[in-house]
Amino acid sequence: MATIKQHVMSRRGFCLCCMAATTVAAAGDWLSPRQAFAEARNIVDLIRDDAAKTPIKVHKLRGNVSVLEGSGGNIAVLTGADGKVFIDAGIAVSRPRILEAANGLSRDPISHLINTHWHFDHTDGNQWLNAEGAAITAHENTHKHLLAAQRVDDWDFNFPSSPLPAAPAETFSSEKALKLNGSTLLLKYYGPAHTDSDLSVTIPEAEVLHCGDTYWNGIYPFIDYSTGGNIDGMIRAADANVAAASDGTIVIPGHGKPISNRAELVAYRAMLVAIRDNVGKLKQQGRSLDETIIAKPTAAFDAKWGQFLIGPAFFTRLVYEGV
Ligand SMILES: [Zn+2]
Repeated sequence: MATIKQHVMSRRGFCLCCMAATTVAAAGDWLSPRQAFAEARNIVDLIRDDAAKTPIKVHKLRGNVSVLEGSGGNIAVLTGADGKVFIDAGIAVSRPRILEAANGLSRDPISHLINTHWHFDHTDGNQWLNAEGAAITAHENTHKHLLAAQRVDDWDFNFPSSPLPAAPAETFSSEKALKLNGSTLLLKYYGPAHTDSDLSVTIPEAEVLHCGDTYWNGIYPFIDYSTGGNIDGMIRAADANVAAASDGTIVIPGHGKPISNRAELVAYRAMLVAIRDNVGKLKQQGRSLDETIIAKPTAAFDAKWGQFLIGPAFFTRLVYEGV
């Protein structure tokens, strides 16, 4: 537990998505989730404890858009007379620090919250944000997942259903546009990618694109097969993100350095495609998962992308599952 905790504490933007992989760096290889649980019985409490101590960093982007970093996934905030609009909610225990950071941006009340997908580290704050006055909008599958118990196999974790105020009141299936604070928020469903509930948010007036967890900036991403994610969908989402961004677009990833751009998106997409192809070839040759990991299909990318919570072996396993 000490090593896990030390690792968690030392990392910025810690994410429940990475929970199974948290143990990668601690052990040099990944512990099974069961082993991780032997060390830390309640992983969600561990993450809450960590979020409770992590300060929130504010990054002002462009126009009235900022990013709050330090509580689960990167949170975007659009300010203005219609009230503050949050994109993702972070971990609930960060409430006082998120409120302080958001009040430093403007004194307008919080009026809206958009969830990029259902995962805990993006929706745990839904209930308090709703109590502050936020109307919650998300893809219909986020609504479905939040209102039923969920199991994520790669975390070996069962989530209970969320209380009703934490569920989105407004849902959509394909696209939706919100006009708030002199800006347009274009919400677009990716199709199955990181989960089956991922949406992008584009704010054309500020040239900002929030990709949710379809994009992890400079680090291997988690892919949640238990709730509909897969590697091919991640690549399709990366294609959509590249197509939606121009050279001037500020790109917000779900995790990793919170300010990114089109060139970094292009590099991320190329990494996903190359590793998918490498792992696919090995699997087609009949190699087992262990044999595929030993063949190091991610080797050319590990120095850059494998330094965070999803290490080379764990990412190979996630890709192998989908090819
Ligand atoms: Zn996620």
